[in-house]
Amino acid sequence: DGEVATGDSRDNVRVMIRCRPLSKDERTNEQKTIVSMDTEMGIVSVKSPENPEAAPRTFAFDQVYDQNVTQKYVYDTSARPIVESVLDGYNGTVFAYGQTGTGKTFTMEGVPEPPELRGVIPNAFNHIFEQISLIADRQFMVRASFLEIYNEKIRDLLEPKKMDHLELHESPQGVYVQGLSTVVVKCVSEIDHVMQRGKLARTVGETAMNHESSRSHSLFTITIDIVEIGPDGEPFVRVGKLNMVDLAGSERQSKTGATGDRLKEANNINLSLSALGNVISALTSSKKGIHIPTATAS
Ligand code: ADP
Ligand code: MG
Repeated sequence: DGEVATGDSRDNVRVMIRCRPLSKDERTNEQKTIVSMDTEMGIVSVKSPENPEAAPRTFAFDQVYDQNVTQKYVYDTSARPIVESVLDGYNGTVFAYGQTGTGKTFTMEGVPEPPELRGVIPNAFNHIFEQISLIADRQFMVRASFLEIYNEKIRDLLEPKKMDHLELHESPQGVYVQGLSTVVVKCVSEIDHVMQRGKLARTVGETAMNHESSRSHSLFTITIDIVEIGPDGEPFVRVGKLNMVDLAGSERQSKTGATGDRLKEANNINLSLSALGNVISALTSSKKGIHIPTATAS
């Protein structure tokens, strides 16, 4: 609050903020932007809507994207280095957090046409297969899975008839979803098709179960097996995993006047998102010795 952090670089977690342009409706209604951005310094200032004369509140991030940045620029400066390390056998995650309407889905998925408006996920598809075609001394196997978490229940978007919820399990390699389907993909158009299939299942499920996508998290995972021949002439395998997450809207659900099942659902969304929100704000106010809470909710 009102404190500008020093923006010390963090190797493993980076927090960036993107401010979307005003929508047509917002412009028609002559709404005003109360956010200003210093992209060089990575600082965002927010004026009070009630008291525009008051000193703005400032927030610091690893990177600030203003209304004019392109999808490609966002990809190149956020996800690209993560995808490169996944191609080297590491795990990486990109997720979008924010209120409904702030541009999470635009940033993660984007719009299919024109190609310049494609988001992080399809840019990762292109990047991965482009790299694979360039690397001659390794072999790659790429697999995709796509799930949705709604009201704490995990649904396989590639096997939508399996309406039963899947369970989380833990192995020495980490947490995994038991029984989640994975599809081997050999090129960009195949993995694109997987994404479209999952999106369709999501839309159909929303209608059938009467909920909006803004209330569920979606997770698109790309697993890459990398095989190369070691110095001893034996093949060895590394596995990289890329998680790309479009989170449920972070707005306070209590404001929506929800009751009964809706309220239970809202509380479940809130529990995990507010834990995550605490982590993000601890990371952005990078004061020395600050305690970063461990998010235990899903
Ligand atoms: P969310 O997923 O956070 O609810 P959306 O991604 O659906 O938000 O964005 C809300 C609206 O704003 C959509 O119509 C989207 O196309 C538009 N939008 C979001 N970000 C941008 C941007 N950077 N440039 C242009 N339009 C955007
Ligand atoms: Mg969305």
